[in-house]
Amino acid sequence: MNKREFLKAGLLVGLASQVPLKGEASAIAFNKKRKVKNWVWVSPNQKDTDDELKIRYAAWKAAGITGVFIEADSERHFRAAKARGLATHRWMWTFNRAELIGTHPDWYSKNRNGDSCADKPPYVKHYRWLCPSRPEVQQYLEQQVTEILNKDYIDGIHLDYVRYCDVILPVNLWAKYNIEQTKELPEYDFCYCDVCRAKFKEQYGIELSDIQYPEASLSWRLYRYNNVSRVVNSLSGIAHQHKKAITAAVFPTPEVARRIVRQDWTNWKLDGVCPMIYHGFYKEGVRWIGDAVAEGVHFLAGAFPLYAGLYLSDFKSDDEFRQGLQNALKNGAAGVSLFGNPSQQVLDILKEEITKPII
Ligand SMILES: [Zn+2]
Repeated sequence: MNKREFLKAGLLVGLASQVPLKGEASAIAFNKKRKVKNWVWVSPNQKDTDDELKIRYAAWKAAGITGVFIEADSERHFRAAKARGLATHRWMWTFNRAELIGTHPDWYSKNRNGDSCADKPPYVKHYRWLCPSRPEVQQYLEQQVTEILNKDYIDGIHLDYVRYCDVILPVNLWAKYNIEQTKELPEYDFCYCDVCRAKFKEQYGIELSDIQYPEASLSWRLYRYNNVSRVVNSLSGIAHQHKKAITAAVFPTPEVARRIVRQDWTNWKLDGVCPMIYHGFYKEGVRWIGDAVAEGVHFLAGAFPLYAGLYLSDFKSDDEFRQGLQNALKNGAAGVSLFGNPSQQVLDILKEEITKPII
């Protein structure tokens, strides 16, 4: 199953942000100085012919696309994109991966009831989350990234599913999964394995089992943010040793990301971040794209660029896409990352909007 199919299960989505906007004047100042870069997420299709790839990637480059995040190690796709001048990053599923269930079932996360993702995955059978506390998991991911970045046709690593399982789904999905998540329910709250309990005790001096309401413990929450951040920053060190870039696809705003998936992405050491600002998933309009970008840019405070992740199928018209793009750029996005196959109209609009001055 690739990301496109996975999205149909609706498991990328969260709740809308309530954090204040960045001041418009400073956003404009930032826009004038920045260098815009744009990306496309690609699930490589082996049926693509060499000629098709040549034409497609040339058209993307001409429209102002900087690079591609490619979901599988298809050397042909990577080399075809590079030949057209695009940067090529390998798009990697980070903590959600099933290949270790047979060999290392103990590496998988356990929920507050003690059930493991290895044999009782939450929501859908494809949710197989590794425990970020385990040194073996970190080493395994470091090895994966090293192997990927050793390849000469790969310019960078793009992390996805770099978080915990969703502890709360958006309200519009509750009926679909027949659950009421008005609070953090134990079966979706991770990870409570022995390693997590021991490391939390070591760092905070508290037995997790002595906390009456662990879901309300700020220290326990912080422990989990830092757990993901530690692994990301280690992978970042590897990327930079290879003199290659590291980026990540993350939940749409810093507040939503921390609250529902324990993802503290504004504190990561990245070269860029692509928040998935998929407005339709959140039942929001295109105005919210600007609001979400403003929040992310505010909390990043210039640490690294933010590329607004846009879900092309969510736009009802070309005009709406143009509006969404303008909202992202005028609120400080350093470009966009497109999910879906961009039409020529979309490419034309992108080229037009990124080449005109932003006011
Ligand atoms: Zn654990």
